[in-house]
Amino acid sequence: MAKDWLKEIEKAAKKLEFSTFLLAVVLPLEMDRKLDEQGRAAAKTQIKRELGMALEKKWKKLGRRADFSEPEVLFTIDLYRNKLAVSILPLFIYGRYLKFSREIPQSKWPCKKCGGMGCGHCGGKGAMYKETVEGIAAAPLLKATGAASTKMHAVGREDIDARMLGSGRPFILELASPKRRRLDLKKMEAEINRKGSEKIEVRGLRLVEKAAVQTIKAVQPAKTYHLRVQCSRAITKEGMRKIRALAGRLLKQKTPERVLHRRADLERKRRILKLAVKQIDKKALELTITSEAGMYVKEFVTGDNGRTVPSISAALGCKCTPSELDVTDVDFELG
Ligand SMILES: [Zn+2]
Repeated sequence: MAKDWLKEIEKAAKKLEFSTFLLAVVLPLEMDRKLDEQGRAAAKTQIKRELGMALEKKWKKLGRRADFSEPEVLFTIDLYRNKLAVSILPLFIYGRYLKFSREIPQSKWPCKKCGGMGCGHCGGKGAMYKETVEGIAAAPLLKATGAASTKMHAVGREDIDARMLGSGRPFILELASPKRRRLDLKKMEAEINRKGSEKIEVRGLRLVEKAAVQTIKAVQPAKTYHLRVQCSRAITKEGMRKIRALAGRLLKQKTPERVLHRRADLERKRRILKLAVKQIDKKALELTITSEAGMYVKEFVTGDNGRTVPSISAALGCKCTPSELDVTDVDFELG
């Protein structure tokens, strides 16, 4: 071996925090051609065993050991390109977020004019919003871990103009290629919340396995919304009775007009699980609705020109406009 691979690996490992590792080998071309499958496997095993044992011995006092299932760091000894490749297992941090602002989206919203390259429309930012829930939550974590990038996986998302209150929305923040992985998540949480102050808050941060991403992407929990409804006519007792009768009803919703440009025109059926209504003045209501996942709540109020049936607007026989929408519960918790 021309290179001192042991030294190379130790050098790369110096910059990293990890407790489990694995070695992989790419054979040089002539060796790869000359040997049969069994021979290649034997050659790789020999290199891995030799280096692995040496590393385990050197790293014993650091508590590092080889792990064949899900190592935190994979060192690939590439004898073909004569270089070491280091691949780091991402960190997955689970928690719930609250959003108090009606002006920030959950994650990056690429500029629709330039698609993220940066242009006059977005002021060169490539994005429509400078701040995002993801961005605020990720900043201290990126700094603490030295990760290359982040990805937000959440259980659905609220509209930009909707707040996320109550118990918050479950999410997993994936940190790619973290150099450090021993985190004081209580401290991180406090720092995110100090910086996020009036805009966002995160709770219950903890490390989870990669498999949790699939879990939270697959769940379809019930959601509870709180909102105000402005009506074009005075609300009658009969109207209030009709609204209350919507509890338990199955909504038929064609894809809302406001999202038709980016989604297929389909019909979905979602049940209103709970509904509470309070008249707050002659022409205004406050609604609290719990529905199956995926209901379009604004359209349930407006009726979306007959595309959502039934609706508050149809029940009252007048124009109804939602405002001050808050999501107050997402009924899911990762076990
Ligand atoms: Zn742009």
